[in-house]
Amino acid sequence: MTVLLLPIAAALAGAPPVAGPAPTELPKLIKIRDDVYTIQNTNSTLAELGAFGGNVTVYLTDEGAVLVDSKNDKVHDDLVAKVRTLTDKPIKYVILTHNHGDHASGAPALAAKGATVIISRGDRDNIVRAKQAWLPEVTYTGRADLFVGGKEIQLREIKGHTRADTVVYLPAARVVAVGDLAHNPLGIPLQVNYPDGGSWTEWVNALDAIATLDFEFLVQGHGPVLTKPEFAAFRERVFAIRERVRALTAQGKTAEEIAATLRPEFTWPAEGRTGNVPDMMKELQ
Ligand SMILES: [Zn+2]
Repeated sequence: MTVLLLPIAAALAGAPPVAGPAPTELPKLIKIRDDVYTIQNTNSTLAELGAFGGNVTVYLTDEGAVLVDSKNDKVHDDLVAKVRTLTDKPIKYVILTHNHGDHASGAPALAAKGATVIISRGDRDNIVRAKQAWLPEVTYTGRADLFVGGKEIQLREIKGHTRADTVVYLPAARVVAVGDLAHNPLGIPLQVNYPDGGSWTEWVNALDAIATLDFEFLVQGHGPVLTKPEFAAFRERVFAIRERVRALTAQGKTAEEIAATLRPEFTWPAEGRTGNVPDMMKELQ
């Protein structure tokens, strides 16, 4: 199998070191609807993120399963086995929310088994820039709709975590999967990826755009499925951190001073780290 080194290191820049032994508890299959499931790490820790990758959404149709994100290739067999417990139809499409390894590096093995992998043009360009050997064949810009087995799947390109994140909306199920535009566990550092085109200004705009969709449940990139009120609370946290950094930057504080001020207020960024703060200061000045 091709060894992939998608930019997980970049995805985790500023994150605290992974602590403790590697997790042994495999991700869990969780039912959202009769035809929508998520495959989700049990404890939402950084160690699990490194071992297994982020959340996957599974949408079942009569023609095959559609996955949103792909975890990583280390848990390929477990991912396929879990989908097999739901359907004997093939995995037909894999939609990647963005290019980071914890979401995208399981895709080549799924493509090798016949799945068509879709990512936004902008985030495919991020993979090209990272000089990866494998590239998705299908891209879109702005908006795309898939119709699989009579079910509609809407893809929206919305910048925030990267230059061209994909939000996947399932209107009939009233479920939306947003990748790392949402990740609320306190153990997973809140961050955008500046080298890949992310922005805290665009992030809040992205969360506001997502909030206009008619959904009941939201699958985030890491952590449990959110209700709409829980998602609204997450948006407030992202907005509040951004505005606090903006105000403290205007007061002439250093990155270290800002981080020290934010840490007790927001449990962010991690102890001894400034995380996204230096880049945010440049963006928000
Ligand atoms: Zn992630």
